[in-house]
Amino acid sequence: MADLEQFRADARAWLDEHCPPTRRQLREGETAPAWGSPEFDAQIEGWKREICERGWSAPTWPRECGGAGLSPEEAKVLAQEMARIRAVPPIGGFGMYLLAPVLLEFANDDQKKRFLPDIANGRVDWCQGYSEPGAGSDLAGLQTRAVLDGDEYVIDGSKIWTTSAHLADWIFCLVRTDPDASKHEGISFILFDMKSPGVSVSPIQLISGQSDFCQIFFDGVRAKAENLVGVKNGGWTIAKRLLQHERSGLSGMMGGAAPSRKRKSGKRPLPNFHSMADLAAPYLGRDAEGRLADPFLRDGIVGVEMDNLCFGLTMKRSSDGAKEGQEVGHTVSMSKYYASELNKRRQELLVSVMGTQALGWEGEGFSATELAQTRGWLRSKGNSIEGGTSEIQLNVIAKRVLGLPD
Ligand SMILES: Cc1cc2nc3c(=O)[nH]c(=O)nc-3n(C[C@H](O)[C@H](O)[C@H](O)COP(=O)(O)OP(=O)(O)OC[C@H]3O[C@@H](n4cnc5c(N)ncnc54)[C@H](O)[C@@H]3O)c2cc1C
Repeated sequence: MADLEQFRADARAWLDEHCPPTRRQLREGETAPAWGSPEFDAQIEGWKREICERGWSAPTWPRECGGAGLSPEEAKVLAQEMARIRAVPPIGGFGMYLLAPVLLEFANDDQKKRFLPDIANGRVDWCQGYSEPGAGSDLAGLQTRAVLDGDEYVIDGSKIWTTSAHLADWIFCLVRTDPDASKHEGISFILFDMKSPGVSVSPIQLISGQSDFCQIFFDGVRAKAENLVGVKNGGWTIAKRLLQHERSGLSGMMGGAAPSRKRKSGKRPLPNFHSMADLAAPYLGRDAEGRLADPFLRDGIVGVEMDNLCFGLTMKRSSDGAKEGQEVGHTVSMSKYYASELNKRRQELLVSVMGTQALGWEGEGFSATELAQTRGWLRSKGNSIEGGTSEIQLNVIAKRVLGLPD
């Protein structure tokens, strides 16, 4: 315990010295460089380099894999100290949150040493090759083929809705390696370079105006057999585990980030988002007692804020469990379902509050916040689709959590 307290003191001192203002909550009277300025970019790069060199971007991973080899207890202390100053984790993305956990669980030592350090240091960006034009909810129906030829697999087929495929360096991909086996048993999980000959990427525009979706085509792509993770035709087990990590991460992003500090003035923890009441006040006005003037919308806002705080605490409990070694499991479908539906409720409510001001696309009649709200509301429609639709989460809960018959 004394060691842990010493570790906390050391971590706190190091973070206080090295975490720059752009990557944490500002201190009293402090300012951060303007977004996009050379100084801003330099702070972000410097933070990434220094914390990665220390292995703290992946605290519990072995040192030879780019981590710091911390114990779960030390990692928990480090997470607490980062949360204390609201430090932004230096590395995110599909590699860190989706692929790395399954590599740690299923990859051989050689694969871990080859792929994990570049994830820990943010040197390689990954994308997720799961969905296909004919296989989304019925993912195990995927048809992209991989045929062994010497020490390489030759891959033909197509993936769709692949987020950031146009920016990714590598892909983790589900392929059919045995077309004669039952559909769950003929799938493998393989990694390959997006610059391989035969890979072509075509962006698709989203309803929110962004274009980070792509369709990918594979035309005789050659991937090294040594980059097949786990056993050949055993990829479905890895695919399901990765989805559990994905659903857990999405739940956190959509509102399950636990309240982590108290307001200076009182005991109430801060909400995860900007306070809805603050966002709503300019549109609804306040009554003599300072409450939002519209009682119907006020009731809706209080309901969403309370549900959000309760959900944040539930997610904190489950993330503490994960740090203590409990595995992710099918129960993440409950948080993925709840987070998606809660965020959609929140966005719909904000549109009701802002009225037509939340329906603008461009033009001087809308503030930056209002234009962002329009896009946020449209983007939230994807929450109950990505990582498996809400209907599929309900199916998983019914079958795998509650044990109900098919
Ligand atoms: C923002 C976003 C990002 C994404 N990023 C990626 C990515 O990076 N990589 C990737 O591989 N995929 C990605 N996807 C794709 C996503 O995983 C699929 O869209 C999703 O799994 C649903 O598949 P589908 O679109 O083919 O819909 P379908 O499977 O065709 O489903 C259509 C409708 O039928 C319902 N349905 C289907 N089967 C059942 C059933 N058994 N019971 C009840 N209802 C059912 C569904 O709930 C849905 O409402 C992304 C999607 C979104 C929205």
